[in-house]
Amino acid sequence: MALLEITILGSGTSQGIPVVGCTCDVCQSNDTNDKRLRTAALLQHNGTTVAIDAGPDFRQQMLREKVGRLDGILVTHNHKDHTAGIDDVRAFNWIQQKPMNIFARRSVLTAIREEYFYAFEENPYPGVPDINLNELDGSSFRINDMELTPIEAMHHRMPVYGYRTGNFSYLTDANFIETGELNKMKGSRFVVINALRREKHISHFTLEEAVDILQYLRPEKGFITHISHQMGKHSDLEKELPDGIFPAFDGMKLQC
Ligand SMILES: [Zn+2]
Ligand SMILES: [Zn+2]
Repeated sequence: MALLEITILGSGTSQGIPVVGCTCDVCQSNDTNDKRLRTAALLQHNGTTVAIDAGPDFRQQMLREKVGRLDGILVTHNHKDHTAGIDDVRAFNWIQQKPMNIFARRSVLTAIREEYFYAFEENPYPGVPDINLNELDGSSFRINDMELTPIEAMHHRMPVYGYRTGNFSYLTDANFIETGELNKMKGSRFVVINALRREKHISHFTLEEAVDILQYLRPEKGFITHISHQMGKHSDLEKELPDGIFPAFDGMKLQC
């Protein structure tokens, strides 16, 4: 049975990318693990390659990881740090000579259709992104032979989808999840979950809340993503987290 390979494309947030003039330890750090692009991941299994989210750093992430083919993009929710890179699917359209499949709940697809209206016109300008929208209703679905299950959570008032495939679960931009949805991640060997910072936030788990969830799920390894510079340095965070829980970093790879 072929292994699932996971790559963390980005583990940061728009409030956490190094900013010229920010004097905090993280923005001043020379540790490459403190340089976080916007949160996204790549799943590869048996010849199928799928991205979770396509934020403003999508192009840079695809180039860095040398992704030559992409079978689809799973969108977690309609915030620009997760959708602003969708225009760049045109490079894959050109290489693969077919539309890019985007998977999301209906409200997200509606927003994408509005945002990228020029791609959905009847007689589009030549070279616009060629996008095929696939609506998810919460049930499991397949991309080739990769089976995926959406996991619903709340991002303040906005519903978001996390995704599970095999023994890997990924949830970002959430600050609340019902027990039934949470339990869909149970038994995963690896779980990636968002925590923006230590202080309370209106739409993201805090570090403590994310650690509590990981300690409830008890995966072999749990990872924190969507990390703001307010969290402090990667090396300090790594030391203080409980056994089996780690900060994710850009370029991190897992196999299960
Ligand atoms: Zn968001
Ligand atoms: Zn976000």
